[in-house]
Amino acid sequence: MRTAAKLFAAISLAVVTWLWQRGLATAPGGLAAAGRLAALWSTDLLLLQVLLLARIPWVERAFGRDVLGRWHRWTGGGSFVLLVAHVGLALVAYAERSGTNPVRQLWTFLESYPGMWTALHGFAALTLVVVTSMRFVRRRMRYETWHLLHLYAYAGIALAVPHELWLGSDFDTRAAKAFWWPMYAAAALSTVVFRLGLPVWRTLRHRLTVDRVVEEAPGLVSVYLRGRSLDRLPARAGQYFVWRFLDGHGVLHGKPFSLSGPPSRNRLRITVKVIGAGTLRVAALRPGTRVLIEGPYGRMTKDTYSGGPVTMFACGVGVTPLLALLWDLPYGQGKATLVYRTRHPHDVAFLPELEWLARDRGVRLVPLVGPRASAGSWLPVGYGDYDDLAALRSLAPDLADHDVYVCGPDPWTEAVLRAARRVGVPGPRLHRERFAW
Ligand SMILES: Cc1cc2nc3c(=O)[nH]c(=O)nc-3n(C[C@H](O)[C@H](O)[C@H](O)COP(=O)(O)OP(=O)(O)OC[C@H]3O[C@@H](n4cnc5c(N)ncnc54)[C@H](O)[C@@H]3O)c2cc1C
Repeated sequence: MRTAAKLFAAISLAVVTWLWQRGLATAPGGLAAAGRLAALWSTDLLLLQVLLLARIPWVERAFGRDVLGRWHRWTGGGSFVLLVAHVGLALVAYAERSGTNPVRQLWTFLESYPGMWTALHGFAALTLVVVTSMRFVRRRMRYETWHLLHLYAYAGIALAVPHELWLGSDFDTRAAKAFWWPMYAAAALSTVVFRLGLPVWRTLRHRLTVDRVVEEAPGLVSVYLRGRSLDRLPARAGQYFVWRFLDGHGVLHGKPFSLSGPPSRNRLRITVKVIGAGTLRVAALRPGTRVLIEGPYGRMTKDTYSGGPVTMFACGVGVTPLLALLWDLPYGQGKATLVYRTRHPHDVAFLPELEWLARDRGVRLVPLVGPRASAGSWLPVGYGDYDDLAALRSLAPDLADHDVYVCGPDPWTEAVLRAARRVGVPGPRLHRERFAW
């Protein structure tokens, strides 16, 4: 599937290049032609990333959030560099031809050509999105602010495109139209259908409301939700939704939370750790509150399970999707282990359920309680001579034959994955969900 997607991207770039070289005979050459090619590649990459991020269900299932996020960063970064190259090359090329300088040429473009002011605004919007996505800028922003600014990318694309259609000699042949119009239509339609239409349809169809909120441990609450025909919602244990609670505080910002139990015909459950304003609101939800849903998303489902022994590593609230999977996976009696890491004994949640799973399905529970041993380790203090690898080996000498599921804070998850790879667990048997953006 990944190869097919890469092939599709390569073919679309090749088609764009072919269309460009066909037009070379009739359009200005040299730097101006290079600038046009940069614009065409940039537009193609922009449309590809809109498609990647349109939340098309089979794309989500095939690639997952991590891979799509990585591709989004590459195509987004590449597309922006090409866009800057296009602007620079066009200004220099046309300034040279008219014997002026690039700044005057910019003004001439803006004054004399249709769509150039909107293109400039589009460029500004895309620059804003790229700058605020740089790691060191993003780290200083609240998620909500960053997300809102990121939506400007759609405005940027909508504003930048018209000047290409009005002016671009590379857009007015029949072959070019046969390529570009379906690309634009596919990107626009899939965004409208899957980002807006499908969530609205599912929300109206399943009519989810809060049934009750239950405290599981200090600062950890479960929200039970009721709805209609939930068996027709394609949700699986291990997946998450983006939730918007109609509690009177605005619905613009959805929050992702995983299901903490397998979905049933009329009930879903999520479990939330209170860490900020949004999760504090979740803890205060009242029964009857209506809920808007977007999803389900996530690939860490039963489909990833290859049928043998299973070892799960949970840290803190990361236990939620793993608990749902423990209920759902068809492992044999005594073939599953849950390593459950918390800082304090009172942070351990879901004890009655875990005890039931231990009794009835032979799940081995390995609680690891205490502050972490050292930076970059997945062990708590107090494990004497054990290091990360020795601990894994003593936990399950045959771990290389297990399916390994991991969920927790990023550095902890990375430490587990690193150790698991070193004891020989192959990549396709390592499964993780990230609770970070
Ligand atoms: C796929 C996924 C599944 C998750 N499942 C669970 C779960 O089952 N239980 C649980 O308690 N938490 C889960 N989280 C984390 C949870 O979404 C955040 O803790 C929550 O959104 C914080 O909101 P806040 O307003 O209370 O905190 P804030 O003060 O706004 O933020 C606290 C931290 O949460 C991050 N955050 C805020 N909003 C989002 C967002 N929309 N998406 C991603 N990160 C965000 C911020 O960057 C910050 O690091 C999950 C996150 C992801 C990405």
